[in-house]
Amino acid sequence: MSLSAIQARLISACKSADRNPADVTLIAVSKVQPLDRVRAVLAEGQKVFGENYVQEAQGKWPDLRAEFGPLDVHMIGPLQSNKAKLAMDLFDAIHTLDRPSLAKKLANLAQQRGQCPKLFIQINTGAEPQKAGVLPDDADAFIATASGLDLPVVGLMCIPPEGEDSTPHFNALATLAARNGLTGLSMGMSSDFEAAIAAGATHIRVGSAIFGARDYS
Ligand SMILES: *Cc1c(COP(=O)(O)O)cnc(C)c1O
Repeated sequence: MSLSAIQARLISACKSADRNPADVTLIAVSKVQPLDRVRAVLAEGQKVFGENYVQEAQGKWPDLRAEFGPLDVHMIGPLQSNKAKLAMDLFDAIHTLDRPSLAKKLANLAQQRGQCPKLFIQINTGAEPQKAGVLPDDADAFIATASGLDLPVVGLMCIPPEGEDSTPHFNALATLAARNGLTGLSMGMSSDFEAAIAAGATHIRVGSAIFGARDYS
């Protein structure tokens, strides 16, 4: 696969769903990818990227921004509170607001700085014990808490359980967002982004299908 192949699939999925491709942001997930692959995708004109690790992003994006101009870099991995300040400096959006203590931390920092990245609240739609995210039953209350802290919450994010049909999880996330007046839906990865678009995704997070497999060795 390649960037252009994924863009073509995005457009075709939007057509099937009777949606405007301009309403779906493709986040190219560049975590762990060699710099030459990231540069190649930048050279093709991609402007929106996703990273999972604050440290890795810090070593990469200040230089790439200086070289390639304004870019949108999104934090899509779990965020430790002690990295919150650094994350706010680095990222244009954070998709993984998942607990009250982090909401308070971000709200304090936002007040000091007078600005805050756009935020998505991660929902653990499968209620998996090992996975981050607010449990579906706690979601309405948590969204209200975050809004009460004046945080710029723009939507919800989920990572469906592996090996399960993603669509029921995407639909559940869309229902939860609509019920709370949120329009952003960060959902869909390499293996299921077309289903996510059909379910209303506004942000899809696609890594390996653009860059190739990640080599963690
Ligand atoms: C790594 C990652 C992705 C991209 O996964 P691919 O299967 O490579 O597309 C998307 N979302 C999150 C939260 C990730 O951690």
